[in-house]
Amino acid sequence: MNKIKIGICGATGVVGQNYIKLLQGHPWFQIVDVAASPRSAGKTYAEAAGFKWQMPMSIPDSVKDLIVRDVQDFESIPDDLSFVFSAITMPTKDQIKEVEFKYAEKGIPVISNNSAHRWTPDVPMIIGEINHKHADVIPIQQKNRGFDKGFVVVKPNCSLQSYLTATYAIEAAGYKIDKLIITTLQAVSGAGYPGVASLDVVDNIVPYIGGEEEKTEQEPHKILGKVGENGIVNDDSIQISSTCTRVAVSDGHTASVNMKFKDKVPSKEEIIKIWTEFKSVPQELNLPFAPKRPIIYLENIDRPQPKKDRDNDKGMAVSVGRLRKDNVFDYKFVALSHNTVRGAAGGSILTAELLKAKGLIK
Ligand code: NAP
Repeated sequence: MNKIKIGICGATGVVGQNYIKLLQGHPWFQIVDVAASPRSAGKTYAEAAGFKWQMPMSIPDSVKDLIVRDVQDFESIPDDLSFVFSAITMPTKDQIKEVEFKYAEKGIPVISNNSAHRWTPDVPMIIGEINHKHADVIPIQQKNRGFDKGFVVVKPNCSLQSYLTATYAIEAAGYKIDKLIITTLQAVSGAGYPGVASLDVVDNIVPYIGGEEEKTEQEPHKILGKVGENGIVNDDSIQISSTCTRVAVSDGHTASVNMKFKDKVPSKEEIIKIWTEFKSVPQELNLPFAPKRPIIYLENIDRPQPKKDRDNDKGMAVSVGRLRKDNVFDYKFVALSHNTVRGAAGGSILTAELLKAKGLIK
């Protein structure tokens, strides 16, 4: 089968490198284009990534000699590119919005990790197991903005991947959640490269990550929303309060979650059964990056732990444990997901597979 030719914008960064690692041997997609800042443009990928390469493998032969393009050199986008993953950082969100819409205007679908377009109502923010139906907004976006084949789809913030699938599964089984209090313990790789200074984080916890609490509290409302005439209509029925902290862990965001139900309260056994049996469209379609079990409940009292559980099902499963009664709310639990895999590159690859299965990527 001829593979679909794809590009990575921001290929030299932490998330970009994860795409390169994860897409090796992908049955459908082949990386043919890498782009980054003007600093990297014109160099081979190996020269541009250089000492920043963080993956536990050498730079693959198929990528190391590709010449890095400037992300904003729109004229040099290869004609045969089917879509791009975007993992760029830029000084302002407006610049990123403009760049991503420019690719869409040029007929190139963009699957983005950046937060710039997360609040654009006609841009869907997709977690395959939760809101695959939000892909129905794509034709609305194309009509609104005069795009022919191009569009922009985003992936939500990396920290909420750890708990939102778990709470969604419970709601989908008929138990409405009223309130969530969430405390995250987020890995340093979440800040990109070079990220948090070692002197700030070694032997320490930083109890603030700029903009993260707002994203954790607000993005679920869009993800749980419905497709309306002009875009997504938010669902604000769950009240969320969060505290986001940075801890000295390389990969894997953990969340401690307290959960209160609206009326019916399931038993502990029911919740564990719901989590263990939960499956959704990516599993039904047998997509290459779909975890067999999206939620894995760990019975050991001291799990999940980032070092031991972040790679469950190739980093695509959410690991949950310590479900117990809460003295103030109804239950509390601890959840973990791999931030650069499920929360970034792997999650977006799953979205791309879903869009291909829906015929939106050719
Ligand atoms: P990063 O390591 O800092 O990488 C940034 C990338 O953007 C590099 O390829 C860099 O190229 C490029 N870039 C920087 N300035 C640019 C410019 N002016 N024009 C074009 N490209 C430019 O960041 P990251 O952690 O990979 O994050 C990338 C995006 O994903 C961010 O929006 C981030 O919020 C999001 N995200 C990250 C994570 C995570 O866990 N790390 C999770 C979810 C989402 P050069 O090498 O040439 O500078």
